[in-house]
Amino acid sequence: MSMVRIQSVRKRYGTLEVLKGVSLDVPEGGVVCVVGPSGSGKSTLLRCVNRLETIDSGRIWVDGRLIGFREHGDRLHLLRPDELCGQRQKIGMVFQRFHLFPHMTALQNVMEGPRTVLRASRAAAAEQAGELLERVGLADRAHHYPAQLSGGQQQRVAIARSLAMNPKVMLFDEPTSALDPELVQEVLAVMRDLAASGMTMIVVTHEMGFAREAGDHLVFIDDGVIVEEGPPREVLSRPRHERTRAFLGQVL
Ligand code: ADP
Ligand code: MG
Repeated sequence: MSMVRIQSVRKRYGTLEVLKGVSLDVPEGGVVCVVGPSGSGKSTLLRCVNRLETIDSGRIWVDGRLIGFREHGDRLHLLRPDELCGQRQKIGMVFQRFHLFPHMTALQNVMEGPRTVLRASRAAAAEQAGELLERVGLADRAHHYPAQLSGGQQQRVAIARSLAMNPKVMLFDEPTSALDPELVQEVLAVMRDLAASGMTMIVVTHEMGFAREAGDHLVFIDDGVIVEEGPPREVLSRPRHERTRAFLGQVL
């Protein structure tokens, strides 16, 4: 079964068409890596999946449900904001910048979603947050504030915070691009563990090593279209299209 199904999605900003008919299937437990030049539409694609952006045409399903709509017979009804919130809870997103709450400790950051959105008890939220911080290797940093943590540690807290909502799929938008080089691997290690645990993931990244080892499928997107896709090793070692070759030549 597809956990995420993107079908013929088009998205424009004014006269600029950013996604020109993108289709992609992510099976349950699949890890799809998306690469491509700056401005090619990668972030927009992720933002369409959790409906931070509305699409102009096409369809997106997550966990069998059409995103942003309720199906009633063959009619579609736009979801109310509260219904959309319910759908979004299934979709975790991690950004290049970590966006932690600066006035809260790591533990409080991870507890916040379950407390306010899921109405979890303080004790249950704290217990789960402790387990998640342990999972991302930060059990000993639970009571530190973001400013007391390195960029890599902050990003791992951000991943734990997303996981606290028990998402069905995790979207990563260049999660290591803002980090100093020596901090990249600790974040990729957490993502590898997550992939190995069976999480469905879409990862926009320039880390080709991660794509090769942890990815099941690699998508090269350029100028709003998927130019080439396939098993990561194949695409990386034998790109078929000139545009893919040119791009990989720059980043590898
Ligand atoms: P990528 O993540 O691959 O670098 P983006 O999806 O961020 O690319 O952007 C694709 C194109 O859409 C770029 O030309 C960008 O300037 C444009 N764009 C992105 N967001 C907006 C917006 N909110 N309004 C207008 N143009 C946008
Ligand atoms: Mg981007």
